[in-house]
Amino acid sequence: MQWTDEAVVLRIGRFRETDLWVRFLSREKGLVTAFAFGGRRSRRRFTGCLDVFNVLSVSVASSRDGRFLNLCEATLLEGPDRLRRDWRRQGMAANCVRFLEAMDVPPDSARSCWELTRGLIRLLEQEEEALPVLPMLFRFRLAADQGYVPELTHCARCGRPLHGIQQVQFVVGEGAPCCPSCRRHGDMSLPLGEEALDVLTKVKEYSPVAWNTLRPSPEGTRQAARFIDAFVRYHLGLEWINGRFKAV
Ligand SMILES: [Zn+2]
Repeated sequence: MQWTDEAVVLRIGRFRETDLWVRFLSREKGLVTAFAFGGRRSRRRFTGCLDVFNVLSVSVASSRDGRFLNLCEATLLEGPDRLRRDWRRQGMAANCVRFLEAMDVPPDSARSCWELTRGLIRLLEQEEEALPVLPMLFRFRLAADQGYVPELTHCARCGRPLHGIQQVQFVVGEGAPCCPSCRRHGDMSLPLGEEALDVLTKVKEYSPVAWNTLRPSPEGTRQAARFIDAFVRYHLGLEWINGRFKAV
């Protein structure tokens, strides 16, 4: 079977003398790893475009025994410039990619992940400012797009709307928010003020470039970040250890 699609290159590795493996996010297929035989030499088939964060048009075929994918051809559609020169931004993008790899991207969430990743690269490439909290927000949005994030609009215990409540509690063990009057003694919970809740709601809705306009206060940022951290750890079972996300 052979298919063509648009893809963002996420990671490249060498194997043998002249061959490469390429991990990319395809718009329709999600996270894919394919072999580029002769990838280190063949300028005709790959026109020197196998580079991280490049957007490519790829042509991929299954091997005869169906055990691996073969990257037959690739052409460059768009390549970042600033992201190549700015190490801090590159680090942020790499952090997002590690999370994406740890979560995996099945074909049914490929489209939303594609839009999100393109939006992230666009932001890092074009915007004058890139908030340090960006990778954290990316994690939250990716988890939300894959259906892992609970509704943050109503108290999970009494059903009361949470809008306008100054301090909502996120009950970590239940992975759900509750209003102050439903909080029980002994609940392990994290406070989510109106501002943090507003940031999370907007991150779920808007594309990354618009996240830059949110500008939460340090306290709002801290609350949102602690919530995302706890959520990723307890409900997705992932923790950032030595430069990658590991199952905990
Ligand atoms: Zn309640």
